[in-house]
Amino acid sequence: MLPKGANLQKIHNGKKTYAITPHLPGGFIKPDVLEKYAHVARKYNGILKLTSAQRIMITGLKAEDIEAIWQELGMQPAMGFANCVRSVKICPGIAFCKRGKQDSIKLGLELDKRYIKKEMPSRMKMGVSGCPNSCAESVIKDVGVIGTDEGWDVYVGGSAGSHPRLADKLITGLNYEDTLRVIDIIVRYYQKNADIERVGQFIDRIGFEKFQKDILAEFHNSADVSDAPAKPLSAGEQIVPMPGGLTEGNLVFGDRISEASVIADIIRVYPQTVPVLREFGMGCLGCPSATGEALEKAAEIHGIDVKELITSLNKVVCKE
Ligand code: SF4
Repeated sequence: MLPKGANLQKIHNGKKTYAITPHLPGGFIKPDVLEKYAHVARKYNGILKLTSAQRIMITGLKAEDIEAIWQELGMQPAMGFANCVRSVKICPGIAFCKRGKQDSIKLGLELDKRYIKKEMPSRMKMGVSGCPNSCAESVIKDVGVIGTDEGWDVYVGGSAGSHPRLADKLITGLNYEDTLRVIDIIVRYYQKNADIERVGQFIDRIGFEKFQKDILAEFHNSADVSDAPAKPLSAGEQIVPMPGGLTEGNLVFGDRISEASVIADIIRVYPQTVPVLREFGMGCLGCPSATGEALEKAAEIHGIDVKELITSLNKVVCKE
C-alpha cells in the first residue's frame, strides 16, 4: 500500500521513492511556510519541484519518512484521490497585473475553497485568468474562466496531456455571482450524468449543443432536463462499451480479470472495481492513456504485485 498522501515516483534498483504535494491555494505561499519546505527537504534528502498546478512537490522521499514530513509541514495533501477536482490554477489578475480585467484571485480562491478534492466522475482541473491572455491556461482546463471588460467568459471541456482538447466557450459576460452559479450547475450536471470520463470526453459523447442547452436552461431558471443523458449504471450491471467512450475493449461482463485486461475495460464493465484500484494506489483512473494500459503494465509502473491486485479485483467482480 502507498504511504498516506504520497505518490510512488520511481523504482530504482528495487528501491521505491515517493513524492508529496501539499495544497497551496493559488500558489500563494508565506515565507515561514516556504522555510518549512526547505527544512523538510534538507532533513529527509528531498528535492523540491515546482509543478504546473502552482504547487511545490517534495520528491525523492522514503516511505517511512512520509508521516513525519506531513506532521512537520502541518499542511494537507493537494489531492485526495484520483477522480476529484485536482487543481484551480489562478493568474495574478487585477491585483498584481497591469493587463488584468477581472479579479482572478478572488474568483479562483473561492473556486478552490468550494471544489478542491470534491469527488468527480474523472479528474477535473480549473483555471481562472484575469484577461484574454489566459495565463492560467483556462482553455485547456475542464472548467476555465477568462476575464474581459464585460465580465467573465466560461469555458468547458479543455484538457492538455496526451489527449489535448481546447475548451468550448459556454457563456460570456457574467458577473462574479453568476459565474459561480453557472460553474456550480456545470459541476452538478457533470457529477450526475458523466461516466468515468473527463468533461471534454463527456461533451464529445453527448454533444456540445445538448450540454450547453441543459446548462443554460438551468442557469436561466427554465430547466428542461427530461432528455438528460442516462445516469451511470449501478455497480454490477452490465455495461455495453459505447463508441466515443473510454474504450470498446474485449472484456465482457462475466469474464474474470487477468494480467492482460485493460484498465479502461475493467472500470467500464466492472465499476465496482474502482475503489479496489484506488486502494492499491492507482492514481490514474480517468486518464485516457493510463487507463488504456494492461493491468500487468500499470501494476509494474506503480510497483504493485499484479497477482495480489488481480485476486482482490476478482473478489469484487465474482462474488460466488
Ligand atoms: S491572464 Fe491577463 S491578467 Fe492574468 S496574468 Fe496574464 S496578462 Fe495578467
